[in-house]
Amino acid sequence: MKAAILVEQKKPLVITDISLPCKLQYGQVLVKVICSSICGSQIGEIDGVKGTDKFLPHLLGHEGGGIVLETGHGVTRVKKDDHVVLHWRKGFGIESPTPKYNWDHKIVNAGWVTTFNEYAVVSENRLTIIPKDVDFEIAALLGCAGLGVINNNVRLKIGESIAVFGTGGVGLSIIQGAALVSANPIIAIDIYDHKLKLAKEFGATHVINPSKINVKEEIYKIVDNQGVAAAVDSTGVVKVIEQAYEITSPNGRTILVGVQRYNEKASIYPLPLYFGKVLIGSHGGESNPSEDIPRYINLIKSGRIEFKKMITHRFALDEINLAIEKFRQGETVRCMINILEN
Ligand SMILES: [Zn+2]
Repeated sequence: MKAAILVEQKKPLVITDISLPCKLQYGQVLVKVICSSICGSQIGEIDGVKGTDKFLPHLLGHEGGGIVLETGHGVTRVKKDDHVVLHWRKGFGIESPTPKYNWDHKIVNAGWVTTFNEYAVVSENRLTIIPKDVDFEIAALLGCAGLGVINNNVRLKIGESIAVFGTGGVGLSIIQGAALVSANPIIAIDIYDHKLKLAKEFGATHVINPSKINVKEEIYKIVDNQGVAAAVDSTGVVKVIEQAYEITSPNGRTILVGVQRYNEKASIYPLPLYFGKVLIGSHGGESNPSEDIPRYINLIKSGRIEFKKMITHRFALDEINLAIEKFRQGETVRCMINILEN
């Protein structure tokens, strides 16, 4: 089967044929991957933002939509022919051993879920069944939805103000979530105007392009010099993190979603933290996909949240390096890779 492999950090992925493990182990599920989205995490893995990668060569991708082909011993939560979301956060079910694939007698490593490969051996707890009328692109986006940030990290109350730095896929989901809980104002900050336009469509009340306007001054104008109740960084850029913290009100919350490089340090004035200001990192919005995905599907079906509108680009698996390049250049919002025909 075809797969895109990270062989060396900071290099294009190698697209080649590899073999599946010969037998499914306890808690493993074989899934035919229909499509996958790309997100900042994979770019981070390629670029080595967390440092040296001990698992090379390995497969990538952590949000996808697919069909169950076969289940290993012990699996009870999914069965053959189920349509599923492949997600990186843990849901219910068994956490299986991670699979090893074979590439010309070399081992290719993989995590509990990978999606840049036509067939994937996935841990039961990284799969959630979806109704058959939900399309696979939506499934892929549900694998890394970002909405948990609003409920579990920001714990946003109606009428509270929020600023979201970075309006890529995750930032836009957070904006949609903020609009759903009636936050006000909802301020979107991004250097790309086409993304800010989408942010407005998804519920941002104000948009700021830092390459044109002073962010701090503008935010203080909007919230009457108070600072915002919640600031979320989805960029992982240290200077942006510092700014997000600075414009958070004295008893507000700064939430870090984007991951900064391992060798970069943010500089903040910590005293307000002693008096009620909060600075925390989010781990995938602390979401439990088994519980959260059905709720999100309910909202999608009733038209309360729009996921497909975030998809700006579609590529075949063979074109994945081009897709990654476009993602890096800020052209894409949600970028879909078609892995296999349904
Ligand atoms: Zn993701």
